[in-house]
Amino acid sequence: MERKIIVAIDGHASCGKSTLARQLANKLGYTYVDSGAMYRAVTLYFLENGIDYRNKGQMISALKNINISFQYNEKTEMPETLLNGKVVEKEIRSMKISDEVSPVSAIKEVREFLVAQQQQMGNHKGLTMDGRDIGTVVFPGAELKIFLTSNESIRAERRFIELHKKGIDATLEEVIHNLESRDYEDSHRITSPLYKAGDAIELDNTNLNEAQQLEFALNLVREKIAELG
Ligand code: C5P
Repeated sequence: MERKIIVAIDGHASCGKSTLARQLANKLGYTYVDSGAMYRAVTLYFLENGIDYRNKGQMISALKNINISFQYNEKTEMPETLLNGKVVEKEIRSMKISDEVSPVSAIKEVREFLVAQQQQMGNHKGLTMDGRDIGTVVFPGAELKIFLTSNESIRAERRFIELHKKGIDATLEEVIHNLESRDYEDSHRITSPLYKAGDAIELDNTNLNEAQQLEFALNLVREKIAELG
C-alpha cells in the first residue's frame, strides 16, 4: 500500500486553502479537515450562548460544552461542520462570525483545545488540513507543507462571489475590510501567529485556476511520497 502523509496548508484568508485541501484529499482518498471551521464553530457557540470570552473562567468552562465534528453531505458533496450535533455550516460562514473569529482564535486556551483535537485527527496520516498554524504548530513534522498566497483583490473577489453563492449577505467593501483585519490580527497575535514555516513550499495561485493549482500540489505529494520511499 502506498505510504500516506500529512499535507499542511497555511496562508492568509480566502486564498483558496480549503478548496485545495479538499480537492487534494478527494484525489488521494485522504481525510480533509478545515481547521478554520473549528475556530468559527467555537466563536458561534460563544455568541449564541452569550459567553463573554474575555472572562477567562466563563470561557474555559464554556469550552467543556463544545463538541465539534464533521460529516459528508451526499447532496452537496461537501463536508459540513457540526456544533454539538447540529449542522452549522451556513451559520459559521456569516459576516458576524467572520468579524469575531480572529479575537476568539487568539485565545491561548481556545487554541490548546482545538489543536489537541486536530493533532488526534492526524494519528493515522492520510490527512490534508488547512489553516494558519498547521505547518508551524499543529503538525510541525508534516511531510508536506504548502503556504498559499494570492493577490489581495482577487482574494476579496473570490470570497465575495463564494458568500453570494451560499446566500450570505455582504458587500465587497465589508469583505475587503474583514480580510484585511483578520490577516492583520492572525499574523500579529502572540499565540501561534500565521507565518510561513521554514520548510513550507510557497504557491502563489493568483494566475492559476483550481485544476492547475491541484495539479501542482498533487505533483508535490507524488514527489514527496517517492522521496520517502
Ligand atoms: O480558514 P478560515 O478563514 O475559515 O478561518 C477563520 C479564522 O480562524 C481565521 O481568520 C483565524 O483567525 C482562525 N484560524 C486560526 N488557526 C487556524 C485556522 C483558522 O487561528 N489553524
